[in-house]
Amino acid sequence: MQCHYCDREAAVAVEKEHIKVGLCEEHFRDRLEELSEGDWLGDLEEKLDVDRS
Ligand SMILES: [Zn+2]
Repeated sequence: MQCHYCDREAAVAVEKEHIKVGLCEEHFRDRLEELSEGDWLGDLEEKLDVDRS
């Protein structure tokens, strides 16, 4: 999956309001503050750990 914001390969894929969005690690960090408003951030962090293991 490609990052939603640039041409790099996405490090994480998140689903928000039934739309799947890929984010590279840089853009994931950029968006972390605004994303943290949602309840799904906990799930996202779990997925990130899985991806890195
Ligand atoms: Zn990116």
